[in-house]
Order: sequence, then structure tokens, then C-alpha cells
Amino acid sequence: MPHTFGEELESLREEGLFRTMRLLEGSQSSRVVLDGREALLLCSNNYLGLAAHPALKEAAVKAVERYGVGSGAARLVSGNMELHEALERRIAAFKGTEAALVFNSGYGANTGIIPAIAGKGDVIFSDRLNHASIVDGALLSRARLVRYPHNDMAALKRLLTATPVEGRRLIVTDGVFSMDGDLARFTELVALKKEFGALLMVDDAHGTGVLGETGRGSAELCGVTADIDIQMGTLGKALGSFGAYVAASTEIIDYLVNRARSFIFSTSLPPAVLAASIAAIDLVDSPSGRKLRERLAKNVRLFTDGLQAAGFDSMGSETQIVPVFVGEAAQTMEFSSTLLDEGIYVQGIRPPTVPAGSCRLRCTVMATHTENDLEQAVAAITRVGKKLRVV
Ligand SMILES: *Cc1c(COP(=O)(O)O)cnc(C)c1O
Repeated sequence: MPHTFGEELESLREEGLFRTMRLLEGSQSSRVVLDGREALLLCSNNYLGLAAHPALKEAAVKAVERYGVGSGAARLVSGNMELHEALERRIAAFKGTEAALVFNSGYGANTGIIPAIAGKGDVIFSDRLNHASIVDGALLSRARLVRYPHNDMAALKRLLTATPVEGRRLIVTDGVFSMDGDLARFTELVALKKEFGALLMVDDAHGTGVLGETGRGSAELCGVTADIDIQMGTLGKALGSFGAYVAASTEIIDYLVNRARSFIFSTSLPPAVLAASIAAIDLVDSPSGRKLRERLAKNVRLFTDGLQAAGFDSMGSETQIVPVFVGEAAQTMEFSSTLLDEGIYVQGIRPPTVPAGSCRLRCTVMATHTENDLEQAVAAITRVGKKLRVV
């Protein structure tokens, strides 16, 4: 007899893995009303506070007035509108590539791009901590999937050497690891890609807009932009809008238009979203964008220094994603629910998002947090962490 859904839900509850959603009223800002109570938002990927920025709202409203609400079809049918092409030109200019293509989400991008460029006979080398959408894309591709230990470049080299390949080798990595906040080892990845004639794909969902001198992302920060064959990123996090992009050579983009099924078989992004994304890139690429990044970097230092001084393990974070290591699921969830009682909204992260035994609070810092917000957060995390004997 298969388990019933009810029984499976019961066992999730028993293991502390049952998930529910909380209702957030109003827009995504640093202070929110959550299930009717005020809280400091410390778990949004709206890192620069652009999700409710006046420039993005205005662009979206204008686009609705001019182009309407829906896009009507997939791009290859009748859904290729002026704003799709304008956004792609803007992304290619921003990333310094020949071309770009937008996807309806980061999940859709990874599950479209990876099966398009890798298939039977090819091998995908994927960091063990890569985002679930990369893993799903690799599984869909029917290529052989080889997962290497997180950021372990010696192990990757051994696997590249030991794995026979008839077709292509694809190395794929998060630029910023979404649950750990550390960076890919770009210099070594580029060297290995060259040594083994592999393609290199980077998912910069959490670096785009935030990292690098001009906000072009983690590859800019590490000085390797020109050596990445496929630069994927999202528009719904730091850029405050929705959707995803891939920036690459014209040849790769043309290939994806013809082969990426999530692109071909899905209604395209609507005008409001496209216009907001263009406004977001313009903003990120301006002096105000630079100010927001400086503000964010300062906030990250304040917050991580505070946590470190209190004795927490922030798991090697190098960015605005700052985990607080806890360990077991039940204790992590108690940590997060006690913090909410203190007015701090931060998610506990459990399997299957992270490996068992490495549960954590995933704190995310925003440019729009005030010093006072972050001091309050550090004080509350410290108080609750001591009570629960995490420190
Ligand atoms: C959020 C995320 C995605 C998915 O992007 P969506 O636009 O939210 O679907 C893909 N990769 C990484 C690393 C992410 O963090």
C-alpha cells in the first residue's frame, strides 16, 4: 500500500520538516506586517530595496498603459514585444556580451538552458551545493551528472580527469551560493574549464546587481567575466522585478532560442515586468545604484561583525547572505519562531534545501535596513541563540 498524502504530511510534521507560508501585507520593505504583526524583514532577496522602488513602479505602470497587461503568446509565436528586445539589449550591454535572452524565471532558465546544451553522451559537473533548479535541469537533460564536493577544485579536477566523455563537458556553479553566501572559486574554475575544454556556466541569481564595482555580479568581482560561456542570472532578487536572463555569445543565444524548451513552450514575460527590469538595470548601473551597493556592503559588515562577536558561525559567508549555523531542524525552527515573537522575520532552512545536520537561519541583509534595524536583529539573535544554547 502506498502511503497516503495525509500520512506523508504527518511524517513531515514529526520530523520538523512541514512547511507553511506566512502572509506578508503591503510591499516588500525592510519592515513588514506579517500575519498581522510588525516585523523586521531579514529573509528577503530584495537586497537593494528595488521591489517597491518608485522608478520601477513608474516604468511598470507606463508599460501597462502603452502595451497592456499580457504578452499573449510565447516569443516564437506572437509574444515577442518591443520590450523583450529592449530588455535583452540592455542586459547584453550591462553584462558586456554579444547577446542575451530572457526567461520567465530562474527556475525556468536553468531547466531550459541546461537540457538544451547538454544531453546523452555529455557530462555535467555540478557543485554539490548548487541551486535545486540546476539539479533539476541536469536531471532533465539525460546527460551524466557528476556532483563535486562544494568548491573543492582538487576534487573537480580529479573527476574531470577520471570521467570519460564522448560529447561536451559542462561545469556549472552558483556564483554566490544561495544558502551559504560564499562565492564560487572562479579563478580555478576558469583554469579547469580551459584545461579540459569544458563550457562554464554561472548562475548569478544572488550576485547580479549587488557584487562587483558596477553591479555586474560575482564574475565582475572576481575579474573573470570574459571567461564565462553562459552567464545566467535572475531579475527577481536584487533587481526587484521578476524573471531571469542568460547573457552569452550570439551563437549560444540563437541556439537556446531554438532548443530551450522552457523558452519555446511558455508564454513570455508581460510588459510591466519587462519595463521594471529595464528600469532596475538602469538604476543599478547609475550612481544611485553604486550608493545602494555601498550601503549594502556597510550593512553586511555591521551585521556579520555583530554575529561573529557574539560567537555565531556564519559558515564562510562572503556576501549579503549570512547564515547562522544551528544544526538540527527542530532547534532551527524554534530559533526562527522565537525570533518572530521578538519581531524578527528570518527563515530556518532545512532539508531538502540544505543537507541534514546543517540547518541554519538564512539571514539576508538589505541596503534599506538601518543601523538600528541590524543592531536590533543582532541583539535578538544573540538573546535567543543563548537561550537555545546555539552559542
Ligand atoms: C532563486 C534562484 C533561482 C531561481 O530563480 P527564480 O527566478 O526565483 O525562479 C535559481 N538559481 C539560484 C541560485 C537561485 O537562488
